[in-house]
Amino acid sequence: MSAQPIRVLSPATGAEVASVPDEGRDGVAAAVARARSAGPGWAALSYERRFAALRRFRDAVLDASETVVDTLVAESGKPRHEAEGIELLYLCELIRFMGRAAPRALKEETRRPFLFATKSTRLVRRPLGVVGVIGPWNFPILNNAGDAIAPLMAGNAVVLKPSEVTPLTSVLLARLWREAGNSPAVFQVVTGRGEAGAALVDTADGIMFTGSVATGRRVAARAGERLVPCVTELGGKSPLIVLAGADLPRAARAAAWSSFIHSGQVCIRTERIFVEEPVADEFQALLARRVTELVQRAPGDGPTHDLGAVTFPHQLEIVERQIADAVEKGARVATGGDRFAGPGNFFRPTVLSGARPEMAVMREETFGPLVPVMRVKDAEEAVRLANESRFGLNASVFGPEAAARSVARRLESGNVIVNDVLVNYFVVEAPFGGWKESGLGARHGAEALRQWTRTTAITLPRRGLGLVDRFVASRLAFPYDPRVRGALQRAMRFLYGTGLARKLGRRP
Ligand code: NAD
Repeated sequence: MSAQPIRVLSPATGAEVASVPDEGRDGVAAAVARARSAGPGWAALSYERRFAALRRFRDAVLDASETVVDTLVAESGKPRHEAEGIELLYLCELIRFMGRAAPRALKEETRRPFLFATKSTRLVRRPLGVVGVIGPWNFPILNNAGDAIAPLMAGNAVVLKPSEVTPLTSVLLARLWREAGNSPAVFQVVTGRGEAGAALVDTADGIMFTGSVATGRRVAARAGERLVPCVTELGGKSPLIVLAGADLPRAARAAAWSSFIHSGQVCIRTERIFVEEPVADEFQALLARRVTELVQRAPGDGPTHDLGAVTFPHQLEIVERQIADAVEKGARVATGGDRFAGPGNFFRPTVLSGARPEMAVMREETFGPLVPVMRVKDAEEAVRLANESRFGLNASVFGPEAAARSVARRLESGNVIVNDVLVNYFVVEAPFGGWKESGLGARHGAEALRQWTRTTAITLPRRGLGLVDRFVASRLAFPYDPRVRGALQRAMRFLYGTGLARKLGRRP
């Protein structure tokens, strides 16, 4: 452990909150070895006992919720409201869903073959072993410990490498896992920088990665070399489309929330707004009013507020660069546009009007408190421009339901929500993943449980047909018999030609 410790800085004040070691490659190797030896014991537990362990963990987190929220707010700069009402709530709900869904999603099932009708195939799902979860800085629970729940419930041990920008909440959650009486080796947190993440990709049996496209590509390439399953949840440039006939006050309120939640540092947040010409002026006026009413301050400075600080100072430079580029190309700053005086990384929530597709703010991920609004001729143009993107993570459509639904079906996006924003992330029953450069695979749903298992398909003689099965097997193998070949030809024509179809009234 020779690397420099990691200093965690308060986004609100710039002061050091705490420091953690960079455990590096050695730390990851030791954690993976511990997880490997604990894995089989965890995998052998019934679903009920694994769910009980996750419930104990959830109880411990809820009992310590004030400390968890304090830690999360201190390192991320987000409002307490979001730390509690989004991140903690999500963890609780995810444990409920995965715990309840696992027995059914992962249960053994039988497939009956059509051709080899004397056989029956049993699908048995077994955990991969050790799943490595690598998290980003913007959601210290949601995309870190949150992503451990499905692999754990599927019977894997998990080693989590949180972002070096916000590692403290994960360290605390690992402690709560242990204090809840659960096996320390089954869920471990290793703190470190990119090198530690890379070491996890080199050793784990499956990888759940959330982060930037650039790192995601490297992670997927390495996982591809090793041929281990890898899920990547990457960037976004989510469009929000406002059609004529939409409930405009509702659309504006939703757009303000979706654009500026966690100061815009959310992968599924609204990054581009397209509004149909006839309602554009009214919508923009409503949005500007909403945004100027938002309360922005440091955590702890008075009661509830809407926006906190930007976690990662680099995001401020991106925001400033994109505003300058857009203004040079003809956009107008409708609200905001500058930093907040005083310490900390504060930037006023900024709306740009008159956006055009060639502007950087319409093409590159911003991940900060800035949203561009572009007027479009009609829904066709909105769909075309929304789809002109490297990303395809999330989208929102506001409008009369039939029209909005029709637009939703044409968007190139892993997820779309109609007449609302963001809350589709909480529909943990459905797979949530991206198209294009937004990633591969998905979290949530039964799919998320299954992807952390591998399947053995065990084919057996079908009960009661053992003798026929033996006869068929003896006819197919060496030595080849020309009579069998003739029988196979006749059977093929009967099954797939018109013979069986005449009997059944349909072709198989
Ligand atoms: P990042 O790619 O810089 O870092 C993510 C994690 O990868 C960190 O833990 C980092 O230490 C680790 N890492 C760095 N180099 C590595 C390597 N070579 N091998 C393995 N791991 C390595 O991303 P970030 O800046 O922390 O996160 C912001 C990005 O995450 C944004 O693009 C955002 O859109 C995306 N994001 C996506 C989702 C989603 O669900 N699609 C959710 C949250 C954030």
